[in-house]
Amino acid sequence: MKQKNGILLTAVIILVSFVFIITVATVFNNIRNNLSSEVISSLEEEVEQNISLIRSEIEDKFVVLNSLAKELSSDENEEDAVDKMRVFEEVYNFRRMGYVNLDGIAKTTDGYEEDLSLTAIVEEGLAGKSYITTAIEDVLDDSHEKINVMSVPVYDSAHNVKGVIFAEYDSKLFHDLIFSHSMQREGFSYVVNMNGDIITSYGSDTSKDLPSIFSYTDNPEASDNGLRREVLSNMEAGIGDSGIGPNSEDTYFFYCYKPLKIESVDVQWYVFSVEPRDVLTRRMKPIMNDIQYLVIIIVGLFIVANLIYIYYNLKRRRELYQLAYVDPVTGGDNFAGFKQKVKELDNKSGYIVSVDLSEFKLINSVCGVEKGDEVLSEVWKIIKENCCGEEICARVNADRFIVFFAENKKEAVVLRLEHITRQIQTLSENLNVPRLFPVMGIYHTDSLENIDRCYGDALRAKSIVKGRRDKNYAFYDELDHDAIAMNQKLEESFDKALQNNCFEVWYQPKFDAHTEELVGAEALVRWRDEDGSLIPPGRFIPLFEKNGNIIKLDEYVFREVCRQQKQWERQGIKCIPVSVNISRFSLYYSNVVDKYKRIMQHYEVEPDCIELEITESATIENTEIAKLIGQFRDAGFKILLDDFGSGYSSLSTLNQMHFDTIKLDKSLVDFIGNDSGEKLLEFIIGLAHGLGIKITAEGVEEEKQVEFLKQLDCDDIQGYYFSKPLMCKAFESKLERRD
Ligand code: C2E
Ligand code: MG
Ligand code: MG
Repeated sequence: MKQKNGILLTAVIILVSFVFIITVATVFNNIRNNLSSEVISSLEEEVEQNISLIRSEIEDKFVVLNSLAKELSSDENEEDAVDKMRVFEEVYNFRRMGYVNLDGIAKTTDGYEEDLSLTAIVEEGLAGKSYITTAIEDVLDDSHEKINVMSVPVYDSAHNVKGVIFAEYDSKLFHDLIFSHSMQREGFSYVVNMNGDIITSYGSDTSKDLPSIFSYTDNPEASDNGLRREVLSNMEAGIGDSGIGPNSEDTYFFYCYKPLKIESVDVQWYVFSVEPRDVLTRRMKPIMNDIQYLVIIIVGLFIVANLIYIYYNLKRRRELYQLAYVDPVTGGDNFAGFKQKVKELDNKSGYIVSVDLSEFKLINSVCGVEKGDEVLSEVWKIIKENCCGEEICARVNADRFIVFFAENKKEAVVLRLEHITRQIQTLSENLNVPRLFPVMGIYHTDSLENIDRCYGDALRAKSIVKGRRDKNYAFYDELDHDAIAMNQKLEESFDKALQNNCFEVWYQPKFDAHTEELVGAEALVRWRDEDGSLIPPGRFIPLFEKNGNIIKLDEYVFREVCRQQKQWERQGIKCIPVSVNISRFSLYYSNVVDKYKRIMQHYEVEPDCIELEITESATIENTEIAKLIGQFRDAGFKILLDDFGSGYSSLSTLNQMHFDTIKLDKSLVDFIGNDSGEKLLEFIIGLAHGLGIKITAEGVEEEKQVEFLKQLDCDDIQGYYFSKPLMCKAFESKLERRD
């Protein structure tokens, strides 16, 4: 599960990162494309603008030259013509001007006289055509500076060519004039003719020797040959184009070329502009910076969100782990945590011990749940401290603990458990709670693979010593499997037995100690088995106290006794009180007083005919029980404290709870004959009488016991000496009739 979540989280992170990278790449690409389009369209605009500028500049100059030519048509004198041209030269910023006669001899405004008959300007001019050169070297003054020369023919009055005038521009001046408005940019522009010869150029590369635009295209190895071919064929077709250079290493990345036609002179030129990729990079930089910050912020947020998610996930896991594996009362492992740790033990052999505290419920009800929790926590600490190395322990639930001892010998386990028992017992004094008595079942296992089964067997072993006072631990191999099966059978057949009236109420008479007259009886239940044999209460009552059936059984006996008393009354038999045993578990049942009162009213029995016996152990420091006893007494019942002296030192309870009678346990009666035991009996009887409480001695079997009890002024005697418990009919025969 954990691994699955991890894979899922990684997949989500990868997916989100992937989507993010794709998005950023797409945005980046879009921006790049948009900026590229922008650069191209500004290039196009610029080319357009330059075309119109160049066109008007050249047209204007030709208008000027033509009007001068017209003016010179009437002038016969070449010197005068040159003089006139000087004015034009200055006004129109020409480098020089000149007049060429029909012999091809040129006279210039700066005094040169040169035969230019073989130059295109003269040849074209004499042929009656206007002409403009590419950027050529000035050969007249040997400066070799780049110049452009424009020429027009001069006609005489008969409209015959009589000469040619020409004007020279510094190419530099020319391109400044043309491109002075151009945006500041990295690239450059050329005006070229169809041969690729440069008319003029502008841009970062113009400081170098002006190359032919076609020098870029002459290398057949170059990767952008395709583009060159396309450019040439477009130029031949007289169309332009723009776009991005195909070669990514090409510094001049963006290009635009458009045809430039000039009316005055029959030339077909092209304006060719390029921009390096740096322009794009530079334009993208601020946007990229913004995107970079945005990406950093988003990635940062993503990381923070992930960290928060991981933090809360870990926290939640820790909480879930706590809930799943940690016991809130002890802070140690719970059973699930124990099972997890067992898995890490690699199937060790050893002993699984189930520990619980006898009568722990009493601590909760007597001292409160908080104190109960404190006891559990302290018990856990003791158990934990007694584990060493790989040994582990946990609280399973309520007062149940499980321990794994990595021991090989039974004797070693016994020693360790006895040590734990002693430590737990001293706890009761330290915490000021009723006596703590740990009960333990032990199961030896060679493998911890099936821990539930091991624990179940340890629990079964514990049932051997449950309720015993002489021993508090038992090994699984001591189990009487027949008895377990029998217990199971008894538990399962309870409901059916109750329905079929298999429970019989027997009566053990009670006698006045002095007159030895029959004064009462105790109702004692027996289970008549299918084969007719009797099962004694000691065999099934502890079982029913465990599974809760005792509540139904006590009520059944109580009903039976009420019904019987009513029947005896109807038969004219004198009523003597019959006491009914009520288990402490029946007392915890809510509304027990009301319920018993209603049953009694239902059978119309007088309350003084029924008495209730409550065992001593139920009464220890229990304010709830004290309240119940008060309510029962208010309802008219007499309350007898059963098994007094059987183990719980509870003389103080005589002060706190109001009993009508104390029943001395057989173990006390058996003290008769022993000096200090007799003194204890004398003290108890004296104390009870002092408090107005009657005494009934139980389990009296011998005459000397009867005699001693008479001497101590004991009130009633119940025991085999006078009578064993009797079946209803046998007991009935002993009852007196009313007069
Ligand atoms: P208990 O209430 O203390 O009852 C007295 C027990 O002592 C009875 O055992 C009785 O047969 C036995 N007894 C009486 N005199 C002598 C004697 O002189 N010598 C010896 N050795 N024993 C004597 P029983 O009937 O086996 O009952 C055992 C216990 O079972 C009772 O002890 C009582 O705690 C419980 N019990 C019996 N019937 C009921 C019942 O209906 N409800 C509840 N909750 N418990 C019952
Ligand atoms: Mg009794
Ligand atoms: Mg008793």
